[in-house]
Amino acid sequence: MLDHGFVRLDDAMADDLSVVNSARVSFGRRVTEMSDADAGLIRFLMRERHGTPFEHNAFRFHVRCPIFVAREWFRHRVGSFNEFSLRYATATDDFYVPEPEDVRTQVGKPGAYSFEPVDPELAETAREELRTVYEAAFATYQRLVEQGVARELARAVLPVGAYTEFYWTVNARALMNFVSLRNAEPAQREIRRYAEAVEALFAERMPVTAAAFVASGRVAP
Ligand SMILES: Cc1cc2nc3c(=O)[nH]c(=O)nc-3n(C[C@H](O)[C@H](O)[C@H](O)COP(=O)(O)OP(=O)(O)OC[C@H]3O[C@@H](n4cnc5c(N)ncnc54)[C@H](O)[C@@H]3O)c2cc1C
Repeated sequence: MLDHGFVRLDDAMADDLSVVNSARVSFGRRVTEMSDADAGLIRFLMRERHGTPFEHNAFRFHVRCPIFVAREWFRHRVGSFNEFSLRYATATDDFYVPEPEDVRTQVGKPGAYSFEPVDPELAETAREELRTVYEAAFATYQRLVEQGVARELARAVLPVGAYTEFYWTVNARALMNFVSLRNAEPAQREIRRYAEAVEALFAERMPVTAAAFVASGRVAP
C-alpha cells in the first residue's frame, strides 16, 4: 500500500455461518452449511439493520501506514489497536511521498471538496519539498537520539508522513462501518486505498455478508 505500507489479514475467526447461527439461536436452531434461505436471512438482517448477529466474528489486521492515516483509522473506536512504540523502538526512515498523480489540489467548500490533479511541475516540487523535510527531520531525530535524548521525546520532530505499524482487531459490523466511511468518495485517498484492501479481505471471508452490505447501499447494519 502506498510507497512503504501494507495491510494483511493476520488471522480471522469469521464466516457467513456465524451470522446465520447467531441470528437463528433465537429459535434454538443451528446449521453447519449455508443454504439459500440462510443467504436470504443475511440479506434481511442487513436490510433491516439487525446489527448484532454481525458481531460474532473477528478479523485481525496488521497494517503499516503513514501516521496521518493511522490517526484517521484510530477514530474508529469499536475495535482494538496496538501500535508500534517510538518509546521502545527506534523510528525507521520510511516516509510517505505520494506518486506524482496523487499530488492534488483541493477545490470547493468544506463538506463538498473535490480533489484535482496538479500540473507535473508542481507535483514534482511537492514531492521534492516533502523529501527535503523528511531528510532533515530524520537527521535531527537520529542526532538527538545519538546524543542521549529519549526516543519518546526525539520523535517530536517526526512528521505525520512517517510510517507506523499496528494491529487492528474488529468484528464485521464495525468493519462495515469503517469501509462505508473510508472506502467512499469523501474519504482521504490514502486511507481509502487501505479501506479497499480491508473490504476485499472481508469479502473473501464473508462473501454473502459482503454482497448483502453492497446491495443495501453500503450502510453498516
Ligand atoms: C470523510 C471523513 C471526514 C472526517 N473528518 C473529521 C474531522 O474533521 N474531525 C474529526 O474529529 N473527525 C473526523 N472524522 C471522523 C469521524 O467523525 C468518526 O470519528 C470516524 O469516522 C469513526 O466513525 P464512527 O464513530 O462511526 O466509528 P466507531 O467509533 O468505530 O463507532 C462505530 C459505531 O458505534 C457507535 N458508537 C461508538 N461510540 C459511540 C458513542 N460514544 N456514542 C454513541 N454511539 C457510539 C456509533 O453508532 C458508531 O457509528 C471524519 C471521518 C470521515 C469519514
